[in-house]
Amino acid sequence: MAKEIRTIGVMTSGGDAPGMNAAIRAVARACAYYNVKCIGFYRGYQGMIEGDYCEMNARSVRNIISRGGTILKSARSQEFRDVEGRKKAANNLKKIGVDAMILIGGDGTFRGGEIFSKEYDIPVIGVPGTIDNDIAGTNFTIGYDTALNTVIDAIDKIRDTASSHDRLFFVEVMGRDAGFIALNTGVGAGAEEILIPEEDLGLDRLLESLKRSKRSGKSSSIVVVSEGDKIGKNVYELADYISENLPDYEAKVTVLGHMQRGGSPTCFDRTLASRFCVKAVELLLDGQQNVMVGIINNKITATSFEEGLKEGYGINKELLRISDILST
Ligand code: ATP
Repeated sequence: MAKEIRTIGVMTSGGDAPGMNAAIRAVARACAYYNVKCIGFYRGYQGMIEGDYCEMNARSVRNIISRGGTILKSARSQEFRDVEGRKKAANNLKKIGVDAMILIGGDGTFRGGEIFSKEYDIPVIGVPGTIDNDIAGTNFTIGYDTALNTVIDAIDKIRDTASSHDRLFFVEVMGRDAGFIALNTGVGAGAEEILIPEEDLGLDRLLESLKRSKRSGKSSSIVVVSEGDKIGKNVYELADYISENLPDYEAKVTVLGHMQRGGSPTCFDRTLASRFCVKAVELLLDGQQNVMVGIINNKITATSFEEGLKEGYGINKELLRISDILST
């Protein structure tokens, strides 16, 4: 029989994402609603290892739904990757009386959680919170929608200056392994080309495409580049290469960087976080464990970590075709 859950712990881990606060709020409020004690751990797994925590009630999460970042802070914990680190974390949970954990983070956070849960028989539920949207067990992760809107807003502004000066801009966006942000913002902002890790466009084709658009009468262009694109040059080298081979354009580079992680979450991310975390608490109270919550076809779902983290969850390449057609 599943053990009774009287105290639930919550933490945020990995890269921070807008909407993590809305998620923490939803955990604390759902716990209060169901009369369960809620403990917040600071700095993800590192706080569990160090016993750095606070007790949370419905009032301790007031006025945070609209705030970016995470009041519990986030971290990447090297120590938790080792058996010794996880043992310290398990001992602390026992000492504090935490019966189960809700882990808000990305794929790494879930992988760590799965190992930990198996080692110490502690129920965990994963809540996908990452701007990367790179988790198979959900159509959307918390923070992704806000990041898309932040990037679109920035590219729109770059477009204003690009067209005033007849310039070509390479805009680098986040996404080391996944091109979701680049692909969707590229289409949404009307980019000339989109370079993503999943597809190697090749320098020749990029050059050809830019030449073609110049011939068709375009005086300025935007190329959205994912951090991890496979063309083999970093964004500055890329701009230099194009400037050398296409002197008609003055090529400039903007790296959007960490601004993509910040800002007040969109309504979509706040609602998503709220739905995910009420479900996470209810799953634990129902005796379920070692699953991640997700949203698939607008239904909140529970998927095993194994299934939810499976490889090969690809971007929608149809968007590349749409982009090709619309950048004519
Ligand atoms: P993001 O997608 O935003 O980068 P993430 O959750 O994938 O978020 P990671 O740094 O990969 O971020 O993972 C978060 C933490 O999870 C790591 O710092 C580490 O403490 C723990 N972790 C990740 N993988 C493992 C693993 N294989 N074993 C144990 N712990 C792990």
